[in-house]
Amino acid sequence: MSGDNEQKLDLLKRSLLEIDDLRSAGAVLAWDQTTYMPAGGSASRARQRATLSRFAHQKATAAELGCLLDALEASGEDLSEPEASLVRVARRDFEKANKIPASFVERASAHRAQSYAAWVQAREEDDFAATAPYLRTSIDLSREYAEFFAPFAHICDPLIDDTDEGMTVAEVRQIFSELRPALLDLTRDIGNRPQVSHACLKGAFGEDQQLALALFAVEKIGYDLARGRLDKTVHPFCTRFSSGDVRITTRTRKDEFCEAFFSTLHEAGHALYEQGVSEDFDGSPLGRGASAGLHESQARLWENNVGRSYPFWEYWYPVLQETFPANYADVSLQEFYAAINRVERSLIRTDADEVTYNLHIMMRFDLENEMLEGRLDVQDLPEAWRARMREDLGVEPETDREGCLQDVHWYAGLIGGAFQGYTIGNILAAQIYATALQMHPDIPHQLQRGDTSQLLNWLRREVYQHGRRYRPDELILRATGRPLHVAPYLEYLRGKFGALYGLSVEADCS
Ligand code: ZN
Repeated sequence: MSGDNEQKLDLLKRSLLEIDDLRSAGAVLAWDQTTYMPAGGSASRARQRATLSRFAHQKATAAELGCLLDALEASGEDLSEPEASLVRVARRDFEKANKIPASFVERASAHRAQSYAAWVQAREEDDFAATAPYLRTSIDLSREYAEFFAPFAHICDPLIDDTDEGMTVAEVRQIFSELRPALLDLTRDIGNRPQVSHACLKGAFGEDQQLALALFAVEKIGYDLARGRLDKTVHPFCTRFSSGDVRITTRTRKDEFCEAFFSTLHEAGHALYEQGVSEDFDGSPLGRGASAGLHESQARLWENNVGRSYPFWEYWYPVLQETFPANYADVSLQEFYAAINRVERSLIRTDADEVTYNLHIMMRFDLENEMLEGRLDVQDLPEAWRARMREDLGVEPETDREGCLQDVHWYAGLIGGAFQGYTIGNILAAQIYATALQMHPDIPHQLQRGDTSQLLNWLRREVYQHGRRYRPDELILRATGRPLHVAPYLEYLRGKFGALYGLSVEADCS
């Protein structure tokens, strides 16, 4: 590469690093706000975060950055493969950021704050009507946002592309249309079998022991505490400041076991991904997970495919019994395993099991698209929600608090592009885990011994280290040898829950 080009590449890296520094500083403030900040700090913290994100946005849309990208793309010189990826991803981020006028960002962020506050109160009072005007504005803003990226086939395509690069409504609908009937059948078949008791998951569980056990477990699966930490919060999350500092948060319930343990495993899955990204990409736009779906797949893989598997608990159950002797001394592993995998047609998405979870997601995806398309009026949302719950799950919320007010997603700014990633994550988790098992059939035996190193090393090599170097579809193809497809997921669910509920497993020819 010529000296001139090398210099431009250096300048590009330096300016991307500054953008990343500003965003990471904002992330530290956000982490502090949801963990330790006293309530009195709210107003000034909101302003501090807004200032940092304004500076980051200015830098991310600066004309000089565009000129550097133009020059590097036009030079015709060979960039190394990671450098070419860096230029491609930086270009994508630059174009996206530049298409959105600053005035829109301001309006949307002011609306987000108002809408969120209105939702918190409306949920408390079970008053959907109070949120309706905000929801209408959110829909208008989402449509306005999408128009910045015209042309598109569907109004939600640009919103999906923000989180799951390259995916479209048509593609997601195609995947969901394969999955939904199979899940409805499986849910119905399980519903016809005797219910499993989950009484052993309830009772008194000391908070300190819960946190210590969760921390012990995530450290054992490979979460590096020299480059991370666990704290308490209202809504668990994972956040990355650099490859040397990837933090997770969790919450506990005194009367129940699963919440803290599995949400910590889930967030640790996100964190293993972030900690596994190559250090070479630190401070650059390549230095994070490739898409929402891929990120969620790693959270789900560790939480469910590993964390709710029998071999995993063959190692961990004696530890659990030792931690909570009063709760588990007289409960068998088989009983416990059945309880943590109990399938139930329930109202609340975040409590849903692996089988019914995606039915909650697909409903939200369809309803938000109908609202964005103008086919569903906001005032009809509560009834549309109840109708779909009846149809898919055979249960119906008596209040909107347990219905269309339960999730924050539609009441915190733009609508669309947030839900599909959960189900794509579940599908990918199965596809990626199945590939790992094919390559290393010994993994379940290793889990029985509490050893996850081979699995983690494989995931690091095939997925984590690459960050955003490859497009999501390319990364999936490289790691698993196939594009995203639902067959491994259905096979996983039918195998696991067929055995748990004594269903005759039909041959799957897909
Ligand atoms: Zn997640």
